[in-house]
Amino acid sequence: MTTQDQRSWSPHSNALFPDGFRAVASRCYLQCPLDAAVEEWPDDRVWEEIEARFGEPVAARGPITSRTLVPLRGVVNEPMRHGRLFLLGDAAHIVPPTGGKGMNLALHDAGVLATAVLRQRAERDTSLLDAYSATCLKHVWNYQAYAAWVTDLVHDAGDASYSGAFRRRLARAEFERLFASETAGRLFGEFLTGLN
Ligand SMILES: Cc1cc2nc3c(=O)[nH]c(=O)nc-3n(C[C@H](O)[C@H](O)[C@H](O)COP(=O)(O)OP(=O)(O)OC[C@H]3O[C@@H](n4cnc5c(N)ncnc54)[C@H](O)[C@@H]3O)c2cc1C
Repeated sequence: MTTQDQRSWSPHSNALFPDGFRAVASRCYLQCPLDAAVEEWPDDRVWEEIEARFGEPVAARGPITSRTLVPLRGVVNEPMRHGRLFLLGDAAHIVPPTGGKGMNLALHDAGVLATAVLRQRAERDTSLLDAYSATCLKHVWNYQAYAAWVTDLVHDAGDASYSGAFRRRLARAEFERLFASETAGRLFGEFLTGLN
């Protein structure tokens, strides 16, 4: 499809966000109604929708190897500890895949818990275990906020009071700020790379 080695998004009315374009394979998200079925999306329709968002024909159409319907939702089960039960990853929180952070958050939880267990075993110090939920939740809510923002940017949730041309113009203004403002671009980069 393209060799462009970067993420790109488009505030189209049927939102698209290609995820990490690579020469070998790419993953793209197309917005569709919640009650849609994958059978309604044969290859030709997928390519037509992608071309509509790029505004030009896609020169090389590769094979589409899988397709899935993904409901967008954000969930946090607080606290992430109940006695001796510690919740990690998707069991504790779901972020919409728009932000590409679910696995990153799961690995962060695992790192925090592993460090806390080692401290408890080595030094009989439970302070890190006691702080586990609060430590992870601070990180989780930061990325929930990021994912909600990105989702709102590229996806029209169908709210009649906030849709159509007005929502698209707001999204375009935000995209333009990301390209024009070094400060905005740096913050976005920090979220993408997980430094924030
Ligand atoms: C379409 C999509 C795209 C995504 N893209 C990204 C991305 O780009 N970047 C990113 O960071 N995250 C992404 N995520 C999110 C990421 O995949 C999850 O957040 C992450 O896999 C959560 O890890 P986990 O270990 O908590 O859960 P899981 O990966 O779901 O692991 C849970 C495991 O438990 C097993 N299991 C379930 N029930 C039982 C049982 N009763 N007994 C034994 N085993 C059981 C399951 O089979 C599974 O193997 C994406 C998710 C989706 C759906």
